[in-house]
Amino acid sequence: MRQEKQVYNFSAGPATLPREVMLQAQEEFVDFRGQGFGLLESSHRSKAFQSVIDKTEADLRELMGISDDYAVLFLQGGASLQFAMLPMNLMLEGKPAVYADTGVWASKALKEGKLFGDTEVIYSGKEGNYSSIGDPHDWKVRADASYMYICSNNTIFGTQYRWYPETGEVPLVADMSSDILSREIDVNQFGLIFAGAQKNLGPSGVTLVILRKDLAERVKATVPTMLKYKTHMDNGSMFNTPPTFAIYMVGLVAEWLKKQGGMKAIQKLNEAKSSSLYEAIDSSEFYRGTAEPADRSRMNVCFRLPSEELEAKMIAEATQAGLVGLKGHRLVGGLRASIYNAMPLEGVSRPIDFMHEFEDKNR
Ligand code: PMP
Repeated sequence: MRQEKQVYNFSAGPATLPREVMLQAQEEFVDFRGQGFGLLESSHRSKAFQSVIDKTEADLRELMGISDDYAVLFLQGGASLQFAMLPMNLMLEGKPAVYADTGVWASKALKEGKLFGDTEVIYSGKEGNYSSIGDPHDWKVRADASYMYICSNNTIFGTQYRWYPETGEVPLVADMSSDILSREIDVNQFGLIFAGAQKNLGPSGVTLVILRKDLAERVKATVPTMLKYKTHMDNGSMFNTPPTFAIYMVGLVAEWLKKQGGMKAIQKLNEAKSSSLYEAIDSSEFYRGTAEPADRSRMNVCFRLPSEELEAKMIAEATQAGLVGLKGHRLVGGLRASIYNAMPLEGVSRPIDFMHEFEDKNR
């Protein structure tokens, strides 16, 4: 095997996958578990794939404590399709859908929601360039809402909910694309959770949907078959050909997570990783975090330097040093270190050392 230089990839997504998972996929790539050909070449109706999707679902249920009241679906179209599928399936006549606008992805979801019925914005962080998500304790969600929508981690702005709003009987819906499986949550608090896989779950191409089964019955007959959750629920995510390889990779990641000690252990690691990065930022006059400290994300750490020139210089030098993907989103500027589950602890200590050195040289 060729000698690889140690590179840490801080891309916001598709993002770093666990090394062990990549190696296992490589080992099984050409001959999947002794069948003489790869999983990529296998029918989705084959025993080999059925056992992969069953095990993937079972492991996700175990990790997240998902009860039988919920369906676990593997869909396509990315998280972005969920912005539309959600109102198409859950919006009720004359009952507004309530949205918290905490960033670009939440406002894109809101835009789609408006296409299908009345919406209400309970909180908007837009004026403050989405540096905060306010206090969900203060949100009084109307009892007749179709659902209440949140984006649990705002990938671009580096903010994350610490607690979720109380919604009573109103189903709480969350886009967890960038923090799913990163910490313990109570799935029973939610009506629907969705996540594009390409950050914490696996490669792009598959979108995980966790749906309270009774909600699948709300859908109108006029919604196209492929866009009904019920279609996928009734067919074990195999109404049509699912993204088999992406689901397999999600399965490997779930197995890896179990080996790490499950949600408790990974949450602890994620807290340690993000805390040490924020500490490095806060202990210096040179670096400045962009998110309100109370709402800081444990997945996407965003910070700025004294000038844009220095930011460009730092990104270039970091790339040279094997720390890639640190450029922040253009709406925030500066740098963003995405440190999802698969980023090891050393993947945080390396940039911290680099930050100290860079500051010493450029202050
Ligand atoms: N929601 C969030 C929180 C995201 O970070 C992203 C993508 N970065 C999306 C939705 C859109 O995902 P997709 O590209 O899978 O449609």
